[in-house]
Amino acid sequence: MSLSKQNVTEALRGVQGATGKDLAGHLLWVSACDTYASVKLQHPGTKADLAKVAALAFGAVERMATAQGTKVDSFIAEFVDDAGTLVHTEKFGGLNAARLAKPDTAGTAVPPKAALLQSAGPESRRTEGHTPIGGLKPTPQGAADPLPGVKHIIAVGAGKGGVGKSTVALNLAVGLAKRGHAVGLLDGDIYGPSMPTMLGLENLETVVHEGLLQPFVVAGIKCMTIGKLVAPDKPLIWRGPMAHGAFKQLTEQTRWGELDYLVIDLPPGTGDVSLTMAQMLKVTGAVVVCTPQKVAQDDAWRAAKMFQQLGVTVLGVVENMSYFVGDDGKVYDIFGRGGAEHMAQRLGVPFLGAVPITMSLRANSDKGDPTANYTGTDRAGLELKQKLEEMVRNLEGQVALAGMKLGEERPTLRVS
Ligand code: ADP
Repeated sequence: MSLSKQNVTEALRGVQGATGKDLAGHLLWVSACDTYASVKLQHPGTKADLAKVAALAFGAVERMATAQGTKVDSFIAEFVDDAGTLVHTEKFGGLNAARLAKPDTAGTAVPPKAALLQSAGPESRRTEGHTPIGGLKPTPQGAADPLPGVKHIIAVGAGKGGVGKSTVALNLAVGLAKRGHAVGLLDGDIYGPSMPTMLGLENLETVVHEGLLQPFVVAGIKCMTIGKLVAPDKPLIWRGPMAHGAFKQLTEQTRWGELDYLVIDLPPGTGDVSLTMAQMLKVTGAVVVCTPQKVAQDDAWRAAKMFQQLGVTVLGVVENMSYFVGDDGKVYDIFGRGGAEHMAQRLGVPFLGAVPITMSLRANSDKGDPTANYTGTDRAGLELKQKLEEMVRNLEGQVALAGMKLGEERPTLRVS
């Protein structure tokens, strides 16, 4: 038995808050996975009051976990005020005792970047003047399958930036998790990591335990991003060997545990990281994201060909920003809907679906709340939800087919 949304919520139902309501009544969201849980509560009080409430919440979750034969390695309680602004965070559990130093603000702590770059290749050592800290283990060499606990690795790529590659990767990950899979998301876009914003990770601390990075558990998925290991205002300039080393370490030195899917958000284009990924991981297949315009298709075509050249199956193409539905229900094909589907046909690969331009999708990404894309109730929100779910189901289908081709599973014929 592991921690789940349901059993954590149930545990909080038994705790009285300072307002007379139980803590489940103050819950804005909860995410839980294995032995990790985090909750966001809208609860009034001073920082001291909130610290007490958080301790009560942790106590209840821990008692529930013990009764169910599991434990709590990490419990994070975040408190927001009426306006939704984060006012206080408390962290509990064994893992939170062994935190990484925060990025250097006072000039004393060594930034986690130093640890990450230690074995990122000679270039990194020459250009980075930090003293390494002993938090991370050296990268194991020559391991045939560095992620044996991960069933399927799905790479998400695009010919160029800005087409919504990270948006699609994140919503695929959340959608797969909503369908009951254990999902991880690796923000491999080391040049422009989006996940700290899109998953609201800004106020969470990076934790290293027994030499491995602990993924952030948010929105029902586990996530790791280089954006939490480097100072947010520094440009990310990687030479080839550094890019290779950074991606390798992020992938191998994160404690992913058992996963059904690991979704990897690749940098745009056809560069070093895709090559490293194809060399080091057994990738189930790639998803290529493209907007409908002809100029976008040309770049996406090159990305798809790159995957094929690297021996990675293209599981399909997603057309993002496909069309726009107005409040009046009228559909506007702003960029010329259908272009990516046409490209998929020409490539001979499946079309996984179209995602409409939706204001709430952009807003939810900016505020780090991707699960809200699956709960819309207005016309545009319902359309988005339906299209995202369709895309996720199609991907699941293609993964199953790819598995059959690899001989993992075989179709059975029942005659009655
Ligand atoms: P990429 O990873 O390709 O660079 P992003 O996923 O970061 O692109 O998306 C770029 C911007 O466009 C983000 O602000 C994102 O919220 C927005 N965006 C992406 N897809 C959509 C969509 N279908 N509707 C509205 N906004 C979108």
